[in-house]
Amino acid sequence: MDDSLRGKVALVTGGGSGIGRAVCLQLGHMGARVAAADLSLAGAQATVAQMADAGLEGAAYRVDVSSAAAVQALVDAVCRRWGGVDVLANTAGIYQVGGLDEIDEAAWDRLLDVNLKGAFLLCRAVVPVMRERGGGAIVNLSSISGRTKSDLAGVNYVASKAGIIGLTMCLGNQLARDGIRVNCVAPGTTDTPMVADVGAEGRAVLTKRVPLGRLGQPEEIAAAVAFLASPAASYITGETLNVNGGAFMV
Ligand code: NAP
Repeated sequence: MDDSLRGKVALVTGGGSGIGRAVCLQLGHMGARVAAADLSLAGAQATVAQMADAGLEGAAYRVDVSSAAAVQALVDAVCRRWGGVDVLANTAGIYQVGGLDEIDEAAWDRLLDVNLKGAFLLCRAVVPVMRERGGGAIVNLSSISGRTKSDLAGVNYVASKAGIIGLTMCLGNQLARDGIRVNCVAPGTTDTPMVADVGAEGRAVLTKRVPLGRLGQPEEIAAAVAFLASPAASYITGETLNVNGGAFMV
């Protein structure tokens, strides 16, 4: 078993559902103590209960990642509990469909605040802690929608996910000398509550575009996040890894 994160502390936003929950479990299996943080405290607690059932150490926190004060309070609380943060997975996110005419200013602001500003705020809060510890690893969540044209996703969602790739490259470059690696995973459509509304017909359309012939499972995305967070990826920074069944190839 890979226990390369033994003794490390991981903070996972969006840890109460879908991909974030799978990331919490995967990092826990690799030996990390995991703070599962989510807008839904009940969701984060359910994740921690699943971890406990598997003999893994976790703690649940409520956070709104779009609030700088809430993000700082979260990082402070995790540091008080476990002494620092070594791994940050920015998994929290919201989704919206719609063409340009359907996305108003409030919807633009709300989605960008969560998906893009949230990741920025988390990075800003954990980096001083990681510097003190001599390094760390950050993994952001983009999307196939941030890499190529999207028929469904809203202009705000696409812009947020393309922005995450830029944030990753910028911070990967800026923080390399601090021993902090910053990478990104760009999933294709993944079977989580985020896509629960798509329906059978929508799923068939989405699946047809995937050479591997199915939607992704949260554990398959989590495996890529865990790899980038681990010492196995020690020479990778600023990178975005497609995990999409071959739906998008470069
Ligand atoms: P999910 O199951 O909906 O999980 C997202 C989690 O983020 C939810 O628990 C949600 O809480 C939480 N969240 C929302 N707003 C938040 C906020 N302001 N502060 C803190 N937490 C907040 O979705 P998922 O599919 O696992 O998505 C995880 C990430 O992968 C997202 O960034 C998403 O954009 C990306 N992604 C997903 C897919 C896909 O097909 N599923 C594809 C590409 C990329 P609530 O439920 O309480 O709102």
